[in-house]
Amino acid sequence: MYSLFTIHDLRFTGFCDSLFTIYHLPPQMIYLDNNATTRVAPEVFDAMRPYLTDVYGNPSSAHSLGRRMKSAVELAREQVAELLGAADPGEIVFTSCGSEADNWAIGGFLEQNPTRRHIITTRVEHEAVRNLCEHLAEIGCEVTWLEVDGNGELNLDDLHQVLRRDTGIVSVMLANNETGVLFPIDKIGRIVRENSDAVFHVDGVQAVAKIPINLKELDVDLFALSGHKLHAPQGVGALYIRSGVKLPPFIIGGGQEGGRRAGTSAVPNIAALGAACELARKFAEHERIEKLRNKLEDKILGTIPNARLNGTPDRTKRLPNTANISFEYVEGENILLHLDKAGVCVSTGSACHSTTKESSPTLRAMNVPYTAAQGSIRFSLSRYNTEEEINHTLAILPEIIGKLVEMSPYDKELKALYAARGSA
Ligand code: PLP
Repeated sequence: MYSLFTIHDLRFTGFCDSLFTIYHLPPQMIYLDNNATTRVAPEVFDAMRPYLTDVYGNPSSAHSLGRRMKSAVELAREQVAELLGAADPGEIVFTSCGSEADNWAIGGFLEQNPTRRHIITTRVEHEAVRNLCEHLAEIGCEVTWLEVDGNGELNLDDLHQVLRRDTGIVSVMLANNETGVLFPIDKIGRIVRENSDAVFHVDGVQAVAKIPINLKELDVDLFALSGHKLHAPQGVGALYIRSGVKLPPFIIGGGQEGGRRAGTSAVPNIAALGAACELARKFAEHERIEKLRNKLEDKILGTIPNARLNGTPDRTKRLPNTANISFEYVEGENILLHLDKAGVCVSTGSACHSTTKESSPTLRAMNVPYTAAQGSIRFSLSRYNTEEEINHTLAILPEIIGKLVEMSPYDKELKALYAARGSA
């Protein structure tokens, strides 16, 4: 059914060849790039559809249509709070995306507390935190970057050492977008509470809906999430703000979101985010996804000699849907293009630097050698992946890697590596 060289041809159907090419994903497309974004779930689309069609008032309007829109927003707030284990739905504020939530958490804290300019974060944060902190360092904040080891893990003693009474904010992700490595935010929160007056922000964008979260039980003050990572559409996110934590509004204007974030609420998107959280709360197949990921990872590492895992081999410390694997001495971009041609979507590290030639800062921080980092591929699964799709990916990948190995200029290094690890 899936031939490496014919699927590509199915993807283009000409309507008027010289002027337009209409791009269709082939029905067979295998999507293993769910950490980049996810498909909108049909149930989620059903939940948002009325607010795009029949119910169209402004949620701030007093008439009945407006009130229905407002109810949809408040229901979604409850659904998000429930999934996160927040103590009160009022702790959830809707944003336009995860990046906005991260920017608001850190930037807002600094605006509220201009004298507490010491920030602690990690070397492997998503750009939404990393680039913001780099910018803040340029404009006079003091940023301490926690290093990770070769497995992508933090040493909590380092945090103990750099935490000061005057530290303003500690920002640590829960799950790494590239490797899926989980940081122990329970322990980190406790250390922050016991040793400082700092506020603890968690970028939870990649973790929500993939692992259980109970914010009531954690020393977390701020927590960012993004709808499009959990089968809601792009363009909606949320920031959890623990009761008692003060942030100035991110957008100043009307009184929406209790005056905390102005701008007419994106009701269809917010309703979708609520429905996606509800869907995630009821999802009972995490184990099936994890088994598929394990099969994919084990077979690749066991059969392709130049494959090596990025991120801790201890699967209890990684997201259950993510496998980041380097194919040494070949270009990740070439692997991606060949897989794409064969109908399989993956990414090279994070989708955000797919336009640059630099290897990912996360893999650099883990000291992954350049010749391995350049060949890294992230496979990320979702509820919609099937065993047949994993089997198919496993069936075509060795041939693709084999061809690229033959073309690689690193033939001496590859020969030595294949001799040491056995041939494919
Ligand atoms: N944080 C992490 C860990 C992410 O993976 C992403 C997106 O990939 C973001 C933040 C940004 O989220 P958004 O795309 O909704 O702005």
